[in-house]
Amino acid sequence: MQQLHEVPIRFIKGIGPKRASVFAGYGIQSVEDMLYYFPRRYEDRTRFSLVADAKEGVILSLKVKILSLRERRSFRKRGFSIMEVLTGDESGALVCVWFNRPYLKQYFKPGTNLIIYGKIEHYAGRLQMSAPDFEIVEDDAGGSVNTGRIVPVYSLPEGISQRYFRRLIKGVLDTYLSKINEFLPYDVRARHSLLNLAKSLLEIHFPENPGIQKQAYTRLAFEEFFLFQIPLVLRKLFRKKERKGISQAVDGDLTAAFAASLPFALTPAQKRVIGEIKADMKKPEVMQRLLQGDVGSGKTIVAVYASVMAVQGGYQAVFIVPTEILARQHFEKISCQLSVAGCRKKKIEVGLLLGSLKAKDKEKIYRQIREGDIDIVIGTHVLLGEGIKFKNLGLVVIDEQHKFGVEQRALLTRKGFNPDILVMTATPIPRTLAFTLYGDMDVSVIDELPPGRGRIQTLNFSDQERERAYQLVREQVRAGNQAYIIYPVIEESFALDIEGARTMYEQLKESRFKEFRLGLVHGRLKQKDQDEIMRRFKNKELDILIATTVLEVGIDIPSATCMVVEHAERFGLSQLHQLRGRVGRGQRDSFCILLAESRTETAQARMQAMVKYSDGFRIAEEDLKIRGPGEFFGERQHGLSELRIANPLTQMHLLKRSREEAVKLIGADPCLGARQNQALKAKLLQRFPEYEKFVLVG
Ligand code: ADP
Ligand code: MG
Repeated sequence: MQQLHEVPIRFIKGIGPKRASVFAGYGIQSVEDMLYYFPRRYEDRTRFSLVADAKEGVILSLKVKILSLRERRSFRKRGFSIMEVLTGDESGALVCVWFNRPYLKQYFKPGTNLIIYGKIEHYAGRLQMSAPDFEIVEDDAGGSVNTGRIVPVYSLPEGISQRYFRRLIKGVLDTYLSKINEFLPYDVRARHSLLNLAKSLLEIHFPENPGIQKQAYTRLAFEEFFLFQIPLVLRKLFRKKERKGISQAVDGDLTAAFAASLPFALTPAQKRVIGEIKADMKKPEVMQRLLQGDVGSGKTIVAVYASVMAVQGGYQAVFIVPTEILARQHFEKISCQLSVAGCRKKKIEVGLLLGSLKAKDKEKIYRQIREGDIDIVIGTHVLLGEGIKFKNLGLVVIDEQHKFGVEQRALLTRKGFNPDILVMTATPIPRTLAFTLYGDMDVSVIDELPPGRGRIQTLNFSDQERERAYQLVREQVRAGNQAYIIYPVIEESFALDIEGARTMYEQLKESRFKEFRLGLVHGRLKQKDQDEIMRRFKNKELDILIATTVLEVGIDIPSATCMVVEHAERFGLSQLHQLRGRVGRGQRDSFCILLAESRTETAQARMQAMVKYSDGFRIAEEDLKIRGPGEFFGERQHGLSELRIANPLTQMHLLKRSREEAVKLIGADPCLGARQNQALKAKLLQRFPEYEKFVLVG
């Protein structure tokens, strides 16, 4: 039997080649695509009013009879025809007008019963409706799609009318409903009282009532989550069962010496997470663990701990970070921590690999990595490059995962003999959501900050209040602290973008902050110069650092207590939270001042959220709400943006249930060989062609 995704929309009555190509641009190519093109919203046109209720500005559904009609030419516009139809019910009469639709004459006769839906206007001294949606009653009693019911409203391409599209969908449903195959296993549907597929598709487009629309929505959202979860669950199972990882002997004097040398007590959350990582590393399975923790929660030390454990076990570890500045910072800190560790029996060699190194220096490090002379190597994405071979890679740490794509993560696993992988993110998302996005991984959470941190106060100033912001900076610096001024730069490689930051630097240096020592750092500076400026700032040879977003992640300078963010409205919430995380790292109280022209309501809501919330989880949630999952996660984290109907944020319970069902299903029938799972398997193969690889295993 032909499947609906194989029937091109050309075969649908009412679609010619031209429209077919317009629809293709909207992702609608097959009958199935058409059925899965869901309404954006609905209009309830079920309650009828009387003509006597008509008042200017109200929207009404009316049942009327045509009393008389006439067609005339427009006086003002040549070639423009106006159809004036006098309609009425027992309570009164109302004029309806349609423009340039001469063919209406064929359908409209005195005595014809109409249902009309539209807005009442006041025109030329009388009330009227212009171009209302209408349905001729005898014509298709019971089958009405545009009036007298809950009516779907779609997001449509230019030139495609709602009326036309509704008819189209209705036609498709009439023709193909009986050919729609249910593919969710019966018991899954039964357990969650889910409507069957055909009924759901019918009711999502043309709901009989709001209750059944909701049921249809639930079924379709569940389906979407479920299909999304199965490959993730399967991938996780596949990784644990089929791919042999390494069992690392993580306990020993090296690890013990390192633990003893820490300058602070680990927080309970850090301890718990280290325990989880340790257990994973010991097991002969591949670890893929996501470590979530708010900015400043102390993820780095956890990663270093894990790296030391890998070295203890006789393996190498790599530490990949998004920027060179961060790589250097980590390198210095880790080298320092490890030398303090005082374990001289086996010295841990730390290496730094940056894209900006000279070819000769790179070669040298490559060789050291290959021959095992370096135990822990820190660097940027150059570490993912083709030329790099490890002697015996045991652990990969990816810091600030949100800056890397999924593909890059996959690339890495090929580097060693299935090394353990720890990815860290400071863009925390609710746990259930983390499951969806990283459903093939295990998740650890650091949910507390180290004690003794100062408060960060966030202020939102308008551009006119800039002086106040500068005054605060002045006070802070005079008190012996340091400050950042952040300038938004979209593309660090773009000279024009950097210009704003440079101009601001020159101006501030000559005027307002003449008395202070200023520095400027951005992505187009030579690496050497960037590092030099960071070093001087760190050593307190500079008071104020003007910076672009190269500073966004990871930088850890406790004596910086003040940050001004220019054009804060241009940043995403999570990004602002990251930036803000650069201050408040010491014991002193800190300030983060957001200078923003918040003209729109959303912009205001966003700034308010920053002022109100300091918890990264909460902010990510707000960010998600404001921007929606597609934009929040962006192209890089593909997957969620493909969801059409299900909203992981508002439907978390459904997400959770679908996850549980996916786990249960795959547990019982990992290859989907059972008869009752065949339709589902076919659907998965259709949606995710790469899925075959997993299904065929085992
Ligand atoms: P993030 O989670 O944002 O990457 P970092 O790992 O950079 O945070 O840690 C932030 C700061 O907190 C660092 O200066 C680090 O040395 C310090 N720190 C980490 N853990 C603790 C702890 N348990 N007690 C005190 N300070 C800590
Ligand atoms: Mg960090």
